[in-house]
Amino acid sequence: MTLDDLPPLRAVIAQYGLSAEKSLGQNFLFDSQLLDRIARVPGPLEGERVYEVGPGPGGLTRALLRAGAQVTAVERDRRCLPALAEIADAAEGRLNVLSGDALAIDEAAQLGRGVHIVANLPYNVGTALLVRWLSIEDWPPWWASLTLMFQKEVAERIVASPDSDHYGRLAVLTQWRAQPKIAFAVNRAAFVPPPKVTSAVVHIVPGEVPAGVRPKTLERLTEAAFGQRRKMLRQSLKGLPGALEALAALDIDPARRAETLSVADFVAVARLLTARA
Ligand code: SAM
Repeated sequence: MTLDDLPPLRAVIAQYGLSAEKSLGQNFLFDSQLLDRIARVPGPLEGERVYEVGPGPGGLTRALLRAGAQVTAVERDRRCLPALAEIADAAEGRLNVLSGDALAIDEAAQLGRGVHIVANLPYNVGTALLVRWLSIEDWPPWWASLTLMFQKEVAERIVASPDSDHYGRLAVLTQWRAQPKIAFAVNRAAFVPPPKVTSAVVHIVPGEVPAGVRPKTLERLTEAAFGQRRKMLRQSLKGLPGALEALAALDIDPARRAETLSVADFVAVARLLTARA
């Protein structure tokens, strides 16, 4: 059997009894045009390696294979494994399925460098993995790009600019050394079952890393600054040793609130704190 001969996804769901499990955040995509569009977001995948998290019955997996990728996929729901095995047979060595929890995998060791990550994940798992992929010490990281489905509101937080409602920790932690963009929004009706809100596909590529900044220091700084986002910096940062001195050295008014500082401002403060540590 080739990829083109695989049964339609709806038939696969019925055959293996893969009713969507709410506790696993399962909202499946069946529209092959939409799935092909998602698979085009990382750029041409012919001969590229892709790590897919949460393949479920394998709709996106099929699209990635159609695009010519070599795919490693990790799925937590064992019920999906027979459907994925069928795709692996048809893919003739281009699909390797791992059974388990993506949050527990030593990815760098399993996958090596230069892998494109593609995932349509439950909201909480997606955000936890994104933060993990963004806080890697070594930069550029082992992954070449991230293509991730999120609730649209989370996607907006990732790409937000200062002074906007969505600007916060996630924007700074993403943008200080990577470039995120929203590729396109996805209507809730595209999913089975439909989630409560609109989704969006986010694409992130690693960028230049600003010199002299420890990721952990920037994380602590943004946690303190946005932990009390309505407060002035002089209040929210007073428990962080050296932070108020850094603001003074950089001529940043401590009466400002976190959401008014640019990503470059946060990097500058974090650099002084890193030098001090
Ligand atoms: N990729 C498929 C699609 O687009 O139709 C399924 C998407 S569904 C939103 C999320 C998938 O992630 C489910 O198959 C679920 O079992 C799986 N999943 C949830 N948590 C996971 C985890 N921690 N590790 C691996 N897979 C997980």
